[in-house]
Formats: sequence, C-alpha cells, structure tokens
Amino acid sequence: MSSRALHSELAGRAPAARRREAKVAAAHAAVVKPPAPFRLASREAHPANTVVTAGSVAIGSGDLVVIAGPCSVESRQQIREAARHVKAAGAAMLRGGAYKPRTSPYDFQGLGGKALAWLAEAGRETGLPVVTEVLSPEDVDLVSQHADLLQVGARNMQNYALLRRLATASKPVLLKRGPSATIQEWLLAAEYLLSGGNPNVVLCERGIRTFETAMRNTLDLAGVALVKSLSHLPVIVDPSHGTGKRALVAPASRAAAAVGADGLLVEVHPQPEKALSDGEQSLNPEEFRAMMCALRLQDARAAAAGA
Ligand code: PEP
Ligand code: MN
Repeated sequence: MSSRALHSELAGRAPAARRREAKVAAAHAAVVKPPAPFRLASREAHPANTVVTAGSVAIGSGDLVVIAGPCSVESRQQIREAARHVKAAGAAMLRGGAYKPRTSPYDFQGLGGKALAWLAEAGRETGLPVVTEVLSPEDVDLVSQHADLLQVGARNMQNYALLRRLATASKPVLLKRGPSATIQEWLLAAEYLLSGGNPNVVLCERGIRTFETAMRNTLDLAGVALVKSLSHLPVIVDPSHGTGKRALVAPASRAAAAVGADGLLVEVHPQPEKALSDGEQSLNPEEFRAMMCALRLQDARAAAAGA
C-alpha cells in the first residue's frame, strides 16, 4: 500500500478506533519503559536539578565548578603552594588525597591524618572548600571533620559498608564511577546514599576500562550527557584519571564542559615531575592557568552564540 493510501485509510477510521489505538500505544510505552530502578536518583522522582552545597560552593547550579589540586597531599608546603596556584587560576575547590587507594601495596599510600589537617589548613588559607577521599567506614568521622566533600574512589563505588556509613554522614559525597561499572550500577550506588538519608550526592565520571590501552581509561562523556538526563544529581568529570595523560586533560575538560558537566576534578601539582602519585597526568600551575583561560573563552563564545 502506498503511503498516500495508508494516510487516507487512517484518516477515514472512526474516532473510537483511533482512541483504542492510542490506549494500546500508551500501554505499550509503559511496558517498554519501566520505572528506573534507581528510584530516588532518577529524574522521574525529582525533575528539577539537585544543587549540592560543599562549604560555600554550589555544585549543579549551572556554573562549571573546577576542583583542583594534587593527587596526594605530600607535605604541608606542597599543599599550601598547590592551593595558592589553583586559587589564583580560578578554581572553586581544592582536592588532595590523604588516604590513597593504590593498585600496588608498595606504592605511596598517603600521609593519613596529618595530610588531612594540612589540606584543611590550605583550604582555610585560600578560602577554598576541600575534597578528599575516604577509604573506609572507620575514617568517615575523622575525614568529615576536615573535608567539605567526601570522595568515594572508583575502586570503592560498590563498597556497600562504606556507602551505608556515608549515607548517615553530615557531609556531601562525591561518588566516582567504578572503572567497570555500568551507568545503572553507578546510579544504584548513589541510591544507597540517597535511600540511607544523605541527599547530597555528586557523581563523578573518571573513565572506564575498555579494550583501549592507549589511555589509562576511556572517558565516557556521552555517558555524562546520558546520566544528566536520567538523574537530577550533579555530574562532574575527572579528565586526569579519565585520560592518564597531561596533554589530554585540557581538551577533555573542554569536551566535558560542552556535554553539560557541572564541574571538573583536575590534578594539579606544583612540580608534577616530583609527584609521589599520578605525576604523568598532573598539570603544572602554568598549564592549569592556560586550561582555565581556554575554558573561560569557550564559555564566552557559547554565551555569545546563544545571545
Ligand atoms: C584520585 O582521585 O586520586 C583517585 C584515586 O581517583 P579514582 O578513584 O578515580 O582512581
Ligand atoms: Mn590520582
């Protein structure tokens, strides 16, 4: 049958028949699109964007929040210097690891409690709220005393004892995507925090493991756009672990901003060649400053194009 003939046949049908068809189509849509299993994280449950406040910084409000600092806090001087540089370049928050999840037990494991105190001090000096990783449920109280945002590392995304404990913490949580986690598993991990009583959850895409070995991970930026449509939670991107290569951090950051990320988590070290962890993916202060300028330029161009 030609499409013209089909049209006239449909137009000629009685309204009751068309109503029946509409009912069948609606029932079919309900069957093929069941409610999301991540009930509280889903946009269906909460259509408006959630804004998470960490210290004085709002994440998810429409501004790109740049969080920067070294992979690890290595000394009081190193973190204070890093904080001054990232603040001067326009970062809104400071990062630095005190408890480090390392693949090898022989690698630098972080300086623990004293690193937490130095990080908090550097944050106070510069007026930057701080984020740091918490590795185990027993450390949640101590880390909460020093940090404004508690990071769950990629390796711990499905550590349910840790998630349950963080659900009752007084601070917001930054939940990194596991290297092999599907988007549904990531959102269900967020669900542990939300259903356990902590509504302040920020998601962080940091690259996943694929067949590609040319980069440390494969940064799933389309996944960021998808998660923004599936969930009301803010989503930030970590281009440092996502690529593993210093030269790719700035372009990946611009791409992340373009797909609608709410922020970036970037490793910056005063002297990356001397870093005790992740030096090869860390920017030096000058590279970070240049990256921030390029992001501002991209933002200004987008605003001008939209005007
Ligand atoms: C980190 O942020 O330094 C880190 C260890 O990240 P991830 O958990 O994403 O590997
Ligand atoms: Mn790191």
